[in-house]
Amino acid sequence: MKCRHCYTALEYVFLDLGFAPPSNAYLTTNDLNAPELHFPLKLLVCDKCWLVQTEDYAKADELFSPDYAYFSSISKSWLKHASAYFELVRKRFSLNSESYVIEVASNDGYLLKNFVAENIPCLGIEPTASTAAVAEEQGIPVIREFFGAELARKLVAEGKQADLIIGNNVYAHVPDINDFTSGLKVVLKPEGVITLEFPHLMRLIEHVQFDTAYHEHFSYLSLNAVARIFSSVGLRVWDVEELTTHGGSLRVYGCHEDSGRINSAIVNQIIEQESKNGLLDITIYNDFQARAEKVKNTLVCFLIEQKNAGKSIAAYGAAAKGNTILNYAGIRADLLPYVCDSAPSKQGKYMPGSHIPILSPEVLKERKPEYIIILPWNIAKEVIDEYSYVKEWGAKFVTTVPELRVVG
Ligand SMILES: [Zn+2]
Repeated sequence: MKCRHCYTALEYVFLDLGFAPPSNAYLTTNDLNAPELHFPLKLLVCDKCWLVQTEDYAKADELFSPDYAYFSSISKSWLKHASAYFELVRKRFSLNSESYVIEVASNDGYLLKNFVAENIPCLGIEPTASTAAVAEEQGIPVIREFFGAELARKLVAEGKQADLIIGNNVYAHVPDINDFTSGLKVVLKPEGVITLEFPHLMRLIEHVQFDTAYHEHFSYLSLNAVARIFSSVGLRVWDVEELTTHGGSLRVYGCHEDSGRINSAIVNQIIEQESKNGLLDITIYNDFQARAEKVKNTLVCFLIEQKNAGKSIAAYGAAAKGNTILNYAGIRADLLPYVCDSAPSKQGKYMPGSHIPILSPEVLKERKPEYIIILPWNIAKEVIDEYSYVKEWGAKFVTTVPELRVVG
């Protein structure tokens, strides 16, 4: 396989998690009698441009099933993050009724509804029909397609170019990152701004966040790699912020290469820090598998110990991270009998691969588990606060990454 950005032959494996089904392929009771598709889940690293990427194996449209269950508005902390972002960009870029804002992967309108409320013209691009429909109900225009250079040219032909293009947690999820980035260039006004948020590869490596790997997460990005990809299409990273979301993300600000915007000093500072942390050398990538295995083995040992001691265990959060670690570790319902999730669209279904049932958090009150494993560790604080009542029967929360911790 060749690098999706620079076409160098890929020789180095960063992480091999065996085989797993697509992380959003939640199963119904009927599905449990049918065969289930599993794909290799392997990440490779390019030793020329340092793009970490999933191994090629299937087309994107086979993975994003039409009933894809994730609605951004379910997460309260994500909604808060979205409205804080809105306030920031509205002021910083003086957005008003004359501006035009495009969000790629607009999901259920969790973010663009803020722009609609302030009469700032906007457009959502969202291929998932169920979430797009919810956005449209809130008055947000949505194009139901995948974004790329072709769609960008179509928009320009219709007279649509953006002052602000937003991509929050989509950049790492596009199969063809070069085509997507070309599209950003095409649809951006001469002095327009692009903001992209994505998990920072430097934090993933630092905190052993191997469970953020799943098939739909095609790229694992350093600022160094993103700056190269931008530059290859005539865009420039002129500012960047470090965020705490998803265990450590970057918000990159892009513009046309010849824009009048001046680069902020932090851009080079972060690129230098990545270099100091070893991200421009193959060693750190070669060492990562052993660190992931250690985290996985510790969790399996913990579950077996608790089961042998007669303790009852539950998990919280039927998210992609959970599917990745459960499938990698071969954990099934005998060791982890159920996963609670507040999303009604997932309740009554089963986790892909592990077939662990997903139940409403209400069952915690009836079953009173002694340990609750929080699978999406990035929302651990939110979960611990919201379900603080489990302390009444002495339950303890457990997080697994970067090491197993028993809290509360
Ligand atoms: Zn490359």
